[in-house]
Amino acid sequence: MRDLLDRIGAIPVSLLASLRSPAGKRARLSILIYHRVLDKPDLLTEDLCDTIFFETQIRFLSAYFNVLPLPEAIQRLKEGTLPSKAACITFDDGYADNAENALPILQKLGVPATFFIATGFVNGGMMWNDKIIELVRIAPGNTLNLDAIGLGRHTIDSLEKRRQTLTFLIQELKYRTLEERHVLIEQLFQLIPATLPDNLMMTADQIRQLHRAGMEIGDHTVSHPILARTDDETVYAEIVDGKTKLEDIIQAPVRFFAYPNGKPRQDYLAKHVAMLREIGFEAAFATAWGAACCDSDLYQMPRFTPWDTDRTRFILRMVHNMFRAPDTVSEQ
Ligand SMILES: [Zn+2]
Repeated sequence: MRDLLDRIGAIPVSLLASLRSPAGKRARLSILIYHRVLDKPDLLTEDLCDTIFFETQIRFLSAYFNVLPLPEAIQRLKEGTLPSKAACITFDDGYADNAENALPILQKLGVPATFFIATGFVNGGMMWNDKIIELVRIAPGNTLNLDAIGLGRHTIDSLEKRRQTLTFLIQELKYRTLEERHVLIEQLFQLIPATLPDNLMMTADQIRQLHRAGMEIGDHTVSHPILARTDDETVYAEIVDGKTKLEDIIQAPVRFFAYPNGKPRQDYLAKHVAMLREIGFEAAFATAWGAACCDSDLYQMPRFTPWDTDRTRFILRMVHNMFRAPDTVSEQ
């Protein structure tokens, strides 16, 4: 009964989506962003995107929207020839579960996607936030005493308390410089000795597997620095080295870039937009919400993360996102 109501409810909202995003010059391009696709939801990180969640959303997306490969969508956005309700799927960071869990679902449903990969973690690496997650997950006892490194003392006697500690540590470290963060994480590992998994991120073979399956591979820097807090020379090297490494792996051009973290002003600035244009990327992707239209800046394309698993709400939230004016930095 619930499913029937959901199917009936989807009809008017789908019509609304077609009105807001008709074919041609007035089309909107909705670009979805995912990170991990877990085997099962992770209660510690509250990351609920597992294979069931992901497949449910992609089924709705392919049933009610026109999912296009990113290069085709960008080209048709420029030409004003997008179909109605155009959508693209993207993934950031390069988690191995994208190849292991997401790829089979994408192939089963016959939809393309783009994977933005930070090359510094390929073949056994781990991003700093994932290291913190594993540390907080395995820290023994009921208290985590980080007084020695200026990060306080935390109660970790319940899942909720561990979640709070995790949020605190991620916030504390997120906007430190790469060096500061590196030192603090080394110190954390001295306080909580732990063996970390070496299969969290993609291998070069998995990147090639995605590419061979017709998926697009995009640059996401080497070590995922916050560009706005990194000197220009380092930013340039991070972008170009990431691109070159990926091109070496797939033996094909890497044409698209996604900003680490991706919030305008907070994470990237106008000079970075200009830098990407100059390097020769065809488009770049932020994490500001909204849908792109014909006058959007191709180097600051908005992206959106949906979180509903019932059909009507999923489409309704996509429609709502189409009405948001994406935040951007103005180019000089
Ligand atoms: Zn990222």
